[in-house]
Amino acid sequence: MPLHKIRYALATHYHIDHAGLAEELKREGVPLLVLDVQLDAIPIMKTWTKPGDHYIDITSAGNTTISFAQSRQLLRQMGIAGEILHTPGHTDHCVSLLLDDGAVFTGDLPLKVHAFENPVVLATWRLLREKGAKQVYPAHGLVRSVDETPDEQFPK
Ligand SMILES: [Zn+2]
Repeated sequence: MPLHKIRYALATHYHIDHAGLAEELKREGVPLLVLDVQLDAIPIMKTWTKPGDHYIDITSAGNTTISFAQSRQLLRQMGIAGEILHTPGHTDHCVSLLLDDGAVFTGDLPLKVHAFENPVVLATWRLLREKGAKQVYPAHGLVRSVDETPDEQFPK
């Protein structure tokens, strides 16, 4: 699919390995969808880069900024049944895309088994489960069930 046909790019959070190409994608015609809780994190990204990285700073120009409450309607306009949820735990500004079929894209949210009783992470998993999350699509690693146990995550 040509890049300009992509309606929006959504970053689960503004770390360089997740959003580092956002401005370049905008230049290729992919608008950036930002949740209001993410705004403050965007300018901080450049502090994690070195000149040799050739990171291009993300400007606010052309971005669409929405609240979580607006996400379902915006997604529906694109034919996507789902919503964007605030899912802190890896960072305070992390978001997840939860589709109504139970698929959830969680970025770097630590797995529950790696949460070490972190109350923020555990509360986020509780929210996702309550909202109907079933299949978890993390940014790194394998697709897994929201109910998966540690043994299943690391098959021998
Ligand atoms: Zn990260």
